[in-house]
Amino acid sequence: MNRVLVVGGAGYIGAQTNKLLADRGLKTVVFDDLSTGHRSLARWGEFFKGSLADPADLARCFKKYRFDAVMHFAAHAYVGESVTDPAKYYRNNVANTLNLLDAMRAAGVKHLVFSSSCAVYGAPRALPMRETLPLSPVNPYGRTKLMMEQIMADYAAAYGLKYAALRYFNAAGADPAGEIGEAHEPETHLIPLVLDAAAGLRREIKVFGSSYKTPDGTCVRDYVHVADLALAHLLALRYLQQGGQSGGFNLGNGKGFSVLKVIKTVEKVTGKKIKVQMAPRRAGDPAALVASAARARKALGWRPQYASLETIIKHAWDWHKVKVIRMRK
Ligand code: UDP
Repeated sequence: MNRVLVVGGAGYIGAQTNKLLADRGLKTVVFDDLSTGHRSLARWGEFFKGSLADPADLARCFKKYRFDAVMHFAAHAYVGESVTDPAKYYRNNVANTLNLLDAMRAAGVKHLVFSSSCAVYGAPRALPMRETLPLSPVNPYGRTKLMMEQIMADYAAAYGLKYAALRYFNAAGADPAGEIGEAHEPETHLIPLVLDAAAGLRREIKVFGSSYKTPDGTCVRDYVHVADLALAHLLALRYLQQGGQSGGFNLGNGKGFSVLKVIKTVEKVTGKKIKVQMAPRRAGDPAALVASAARARKALGWRPQYASLETIIKHAWDWHKVKVIRMRK
């Protein structure tokens, strides 16, 4: 039977994937330092507390278990923070991840499913975005993801690593069964912030920029359900195990929604009116990011099950209400 090491399995997307793997009968071990993740979200499979910064932790973990594959979710992911504190990003997302690659090499583990990002493209010249676009990130976060993709390609050529770099567009939604969802501290993402406003935890929502060249002037993003991202990881693992070629795969629904459309949909789903304030643009935000996931569809057989924005927001809201009740206790 397959045993998978889920690095960062106590975080939002890692936990959802870990749950799916366990549901499908795979053995999993979550490796997490709990610096930003939550132990309560890592309740499937086994748990190993350790840090990627410490090669000895990795060595102990790889000695204790024999793994068939690794999925790697543990990274810092705030674009703004990556600009003000790039050292933190290069250290964790690149240097510490090299420790993981080296531990895999030492243990002879060949298969890696890696959390990459549409941030590797920077501001795209064409929509929808295919994997053939130039890779030209516009912030340190995107550069850390691109560097890791380049490093993995070199390890593949030299050491026989097989990898899938899954380039997420805007991860959103929550576990359809309500067991896992976003719980970032601080929260910077649009949907949870608008839900905070709907729940009365925030007075208003600031819209960062209203003069973009988009239909309503606000930024357009491709929101993809976290359960669909989890599914893509499972399919990518099978793909690699069946001899599929290493490389990058976009994960998005191929449909973009503006900030104002997201706010309107939250109002519809929650029945609450959201107070909106127009604000200056946020540095580094491209006007529109929309995926072509044709490669993932063809090579991995990936078919998103929760592509509607309303469903994504409904699941996020169900989770958000539970979170708010817990906070008020
Ligand atoms: N956004 C906004 N107000 C907020 C948070 C985000 O207008 O309080 C916008 C942001 O400028 C972007 C979109 O919402 O155009 C999605 O931002 P998010 O931070 O959720 O994801 P990103 O696209 O940065 O990965």
